[in-house]
Amino acid sequence: MLQTVNVGTKNLADYTHLVGPALAEEVRALAEPLKGLRVVHLSATSFGGGVSEILYTLVPLMKDAGLDVEWQVIYGREEFFNATKLMHNALQGNPQDLTPEQWSTWERYNEMNARELAGGWDVCVVHDPQPAALFQLVPEKAAHWMWRCHIDLSTPNPATMERLLPVIRDYPVTFFHMEQYVPEGLRGDVRVVPPAIDPLAPKNMALSPEDAAYVCRQFGIDVDRPLLCQVSRFDPWKDPLGVIDAYRKVKEEIPGVQLALVGSMASDDPEGWDFFNATVAHADGDEDIHILNNFNNVGAIEVNAFQSHADVVIQKSIREGFGLTVTEALWKARPFVGGDVGGIPLQVQNGLSGYLVSDVDTCAARCIDILRDPALGKALGRRGKEHVRERFLTPRYLRDYLRVFGEMMSSP
Ligand code: UDP
Repeated sequence: MLQTVNVGTKNLADYTHLVGPALAEEVRALAEPLKGLRVVHLSATSFGGGVSEILYTLVPLMKDAGLDVEWQVIYGREEFFNATKLMHNALQGNPQDLTPEQWSTWERYNEMNARELAGGWDVCVVHDPQPAALFQLVPEKAAHWMWRCHIDLSTPNPATMERLLPVIRDYPVTFFHMEQYVPEGLRGDVRVVPPAIDPLAPKNMALSPEDAAYVCRQFGIDVDRPLLCQVSRFDPWKDPLGVIDAYRKVKEEIPGVQLALVGSMASDDPEGWDFFNATVAHADGDEDIHILNNFNNVGAIEVNAFQSHADVVIQKSIREGFGLTVTEALWKARPFVGGDVGGIPLQVQNGLSGYLVSDVDTCAARCIDILRDPALGKALGRRGKEHVRERFLTPRYLRDYLRVFGEMMSSP
C-alpha cells in the first residue's frame, strides 16, 4: 500500500564545482562506512510542496553516496488529508483543532500504514506530522528512527500540540529548521538543520540573462524596464497585497517599474483562489502588475526565469517557515528584500546580502535604493549567493543526514 517513489539518479560529483572539494570529500568520507545502509524516507506525498522538492534531490544523492535508500509515500484518502491539512494549519497556529473523529481518522491511517510498512530497515526517516505515529506503532520495523519536521511549530494550537507530542516525543533523533520551532518536552536528540535547494534542478540551474529575459517577455514583461518579483503561494501570510502597495510607492519615484506576482495554485484549494482573486482586485487593472500562476503554464523554468531576471526579488512574508523562495532568489545572485520573520533572517544578513523589512514603506524604500544603484544591487546579490553556497545547497544537507546516520550506527 505504501508507494515507492522513482527518484531517478543524480551524481554527487556534478555538485563539486558548486560546493567545493572539501564538502564533497567530507560527504564521501561520511558515506564510506554507511555503504549499503538500508534507509527509508516516509512522507505524505510525492507531488508539490517543499518536502517532495527536497526528497527528489536528497534521495538520489544518498543512493549515489552508496546507501540503499527508498522513499515511500504513505497511503491516505481524502478524509485523512482533510484531517492532516487541518493539523498542519493548527500546528502553525490556527485556532481550529481536529474533531475527535478526525483524530481517530488520522490514527486509523497511521495504523494501516504501520501494518503495511516492510521491516528490516537500518533507519526510518519520518517526514512531518502525517505519518508521525509510525514509530510508536511499529518501532521494531527499523533499528533507528528519526522525525524530520518541515513546519513552524513556534506558536502551535496548544490542544493540537498536546495530542501530537506523545507521538513525536520519543523519537531518538528529530530535525527542525530553526531553534524556535523545537517544541518543549522532546526526549531524544534534537538537531537544528535547515533545508537546502538543489542548484542543478531546473528551478535553480544557471539560465543566461538572455534566456531568462526571453521567457519573461513571453509573459508580457517589458525586459527593458525594471522588474520587482515575488514568487509564492497566494496566501495572506505571504502578503501579496503588501507587495502591491510597496510597488505603488516605488512607482511614484520610478514610473517605469513593473511587478510580477508568481504563485502556484491547487485546483482543490478554494481559499487559495479567493485570495488570488483578492490580489487581482487589489492590482486594480494596473497593466504593469503581472499576476501569474501555474494554470498559466508557470513551471520550474519560468520561476527560474522570473527570479533570475528580476531587478529585486521580494518575499514580504508576515510569517515564513524557512522560505525556499528566498534561497532560490539569493542563489541567483538577485538583490533581495524580504520580511524580517521566520527563516528569512537566517538566510539574509540585513544590509549585507539583502534587506529585511517589516512594513510597506521600508520595503519600497529599499527597492528604490537598489533600483537607483545597480552597483549596490550587484554587491548584495553576490554576497547573498555566497551565503547560500556555504549553507543552503543540498550537499551540506546530505552531509548533516550522513553525520547523524553515522552516529546512530555507532550507538548501541
Ligand atoms: N513555487 C513554485 N511556483 C510557484 C510558487 C512557488 O514552484 O508559482 C515553489 C517555490 O519556488 C518554492 C516552493 O514552491 O520552491 C515554496 O516554498 P517556500 O518554502 O518558499 O514556501 P511554502 O509555500 O512552503 O510556504
